[in-house]
Amino acid sequence: MYSYDDQNIFARILRGEIPNKTVLESAHTLAFEDIAPQAPVHVLVIPKGAYITFDHFAAEASEAEIVDFNRTVQAVIAQLSLGDGYRLISNAGQDGVQDVPHMHMHILAGRRLGRIVGEA
Ligand code: 5GP
Repeated sequence: MYSYDDQNIFARILRGEIPNKTVLESAHTLAFEDIAPQAPVHVLVIPKGAYITFDHFAAEASEAEIVDFNRTVQAVIAQLSLGDGYRLISNAGQDGVQDVPHMHMHILAGRRLGRIVGEA
């Protein structure tokens, strides 16, 4: 059902073919700065495994991967002292306007963010 493209940009980052500004790395997860930040804090958190979307990850990742991913999101929030708040976004597929087909969570923070849904 899920067909992963191993040439996507995040797969290439995970293979070390493209540099990234790492915020945190754990056994199953990598967190790094978005190349085109939409807020003062814009971090992407990705599983190291080959998952396309959040639902793919939630369906097929191991419990260790899922726990590690969530704990890494928490660790980024703690490390960057996001006590004033943050927003998590995981775009999926065409209607979700997902550009990179490797599951990722955006962490946005550092200013009062706008409404959740923008224009198409
Ligand atoms: P999506 O639209 O798929 O949810 O978000 C993809 C995100 O990846 C975008 O915010 C975009 O700026 C970011 N991005 C795309 N290419 C690169 C890259 O080569 N390096 C980094 N760090 N971020 C990237």
